[in-house]
Amino acid sequence: MENIKDPSIYRNPVILQSEDLTNYILETAVYPREAEPLKELRKATENHPWGFIAALPEAGQLISILLKLLNPKKTIEIGVFTGYSLLLTALNIPDDGKITAIDIDRKTYEIGLPVIKKAGVEHKIDFIESPALPILDKLLEDPSNEGTFDFAFIDADKENYVNYHDRLIKLVKVGGLLIYDNTLWGGRVVWPEDKIPPHSKSGTTAAIEFNKKIRDDSRVEFSLTSIGDGLSICRRVV
Ligand code: SAH
Ligand code: CA
Repeated sequence: MENIKDPSIYRNPVILQSEDLTNYILETAVYPREAEPLKELRKATENHPWGFIAALPEAGQLISILLKLLNPKKTIEIGVFTGYSLLLTALNIPDDGKITAIDIDRKTYEIGLPVIKKAGVEHKIDFIESPALPILDKLLEDPSNEGTFDFAFIDADKENYVNYHDRLIKLVKVGGLLIYDNTLWGGRVVWPEDKIPPHSKSGTTAAIEFNKKIRDDSRVEFSLTSIGDGLSICRRVV
């Protein structure tokens, strides 16, 4: 992980929503409805020096509705951190549903693991400590994996989103969902280039390139929502 701590990269309320409105949404709609285990995991993550990179609960709330509608049996997550989105997925898929969860760092996953165990959903999770790209390539070596995943959540290194999409579009079935997080990159996708801090340049370029790629990809239906830090919801159609 790069050693740059800049919480505004992950949510920039001035641009996406006013801070008051974000707090209103959180207090009115999100926190009162957040499942107890998710609340517990969020609290366990709060004091971590990188706690601000955890998936945002307002985005999670939307994802949980989509998961209930989709009822996915086979899912994949890239970028676990302490496991907020992983636990959210585990809680909202059927009891025999499975999640292949990939992260380069098992230690952060272990922060959330006791909460995941207590919630009784660990049996749905196959955690793999590895960079994600080689795992996706390995899956694609076996053609019988193509079109078998119902759902993918992508929330790791933004510079690889384009590469992840190239692989995942083959692994996810027609009708399946691919959800990409942080695609507005703190609003920097619309900032003048000279205003973007050096540590944020590669992430900004990656988000802009990725958004163009999805715009032009007729294999998916696409909604770029400004919830959280920007959530791109893609449904494979062909
Ligand atoms: N979805 C998480 C947040 C993920 S933060 C949540 O709900 O809290 C991004 C994560 O991506 C970090 O844990 C980091 O270790 C992981 N990561 C970074 N580069 C990666 C790579 N190449 N492959 C897999 N994981 C990676
Ligand atoms: Ca994220």
